[in-house]
Amino acid sequence: MTARGNLFIVSAPSGAGKSSLISALLKDQPADMQVSVSHTTRQPRPGEEHGQHYHFVNQDEFKSLIAENAFFEWAEVFGNYYGTSRVTIEHTLAKGIDVFLDIDWQGAQQVKKVMPESIGIFILPPSRAELERRLTGRGQDSQEVIAGRMAQAVSEMSHYNEYDFILVNDDFDKAQSDLLAIIHSQRLTTASQIHTQNDMIKDLLAD
Ligand code: GDP
Ligand code: ADP
Ligand code: 5GP
Repeated sequence: MTARGNLFIVSAPSGAGKSSLISALLKDQPADMQVSVSHTTRQPRPGEEHGQHYHFVNQDEFKSLIAENAFFEWAEVFGNYYGTSRVTIEHTLAKGIDVFLDIDWQGAQQVKKVMPESIGIFILPPSRAELERRLTGRGQDSQEVIAGRMAQAVSEMSHYNEYDFILVNDDFDKAQSDLLAIIHSQRLTTASQIHTQNDMIKDLLAD
């Protein structure tokens, strides 16, 4: 019996380290984990590639996708639209692969509603000053965009208690091993093990 994959929702204020933590996790391309590539109407940053970081689309294309019910969830964030493809998520989970959604709190609420078994992880930076340093240090957004994202950070962070886990990204290596611990513990829950250890449990309990 193939177990259905776990759906992990990862949210954080911009600059807290979501993308870095998720790419570090998937660097060696583990067969049992994938990040969902969202659609967005924002402009690509230098080095971002269509289909790899995002599917970059214009407003009309995004609206057609909404009308076709193609999104599992979508939201407007910082004046742009972002959305998660329904078909891709369903296919990947059905193959028993864990999926990571790097989405904002509005999207997280929608996902939790339709899939309450999904696991929410909220990443916090160690301080506001460090968050601003990281946004500036990343060097990919204009001062105006950074100021806008800092202004949004507090309201985003106020949603921290809607998630199952809180991960503080201070020391990067520690945050990475904490993230792995969350994933492993999820795979060890009774609900997961019933599927993955099904044959062994049947043998153990046989008359
Ligand atoms: P970052 O926060 O610096 O990584 O900037 P991004 O432009 O990559 O993401 C902007 C915001 O959009 C973040 O809050 C993301 O979590 C959110 N986001 C990205 N993809 C999705 C998505 O598919 N759905 C939703 N609801 N939010 C998304
Ligand atoms: P997000 O995806 O949440 O917007 P990023 O992963 O792009 O955030 O990280 C923002 C910036 O902070 C990047 O330049 C990244 O290299 C840096 N960064 C991430 N985690 C840490 C950390 N623990 N310590 C110092 N810098 C970090
Ligand atoms: P950025 O523009 O910096 O790549 O992303 C900004 C924010 O949008 C991040 O907080 C990111 O998590 C969120 N985001 C990215 N993709 C999606 C998505 O598909 N859905 C939702 N709801 N948020 C997203």
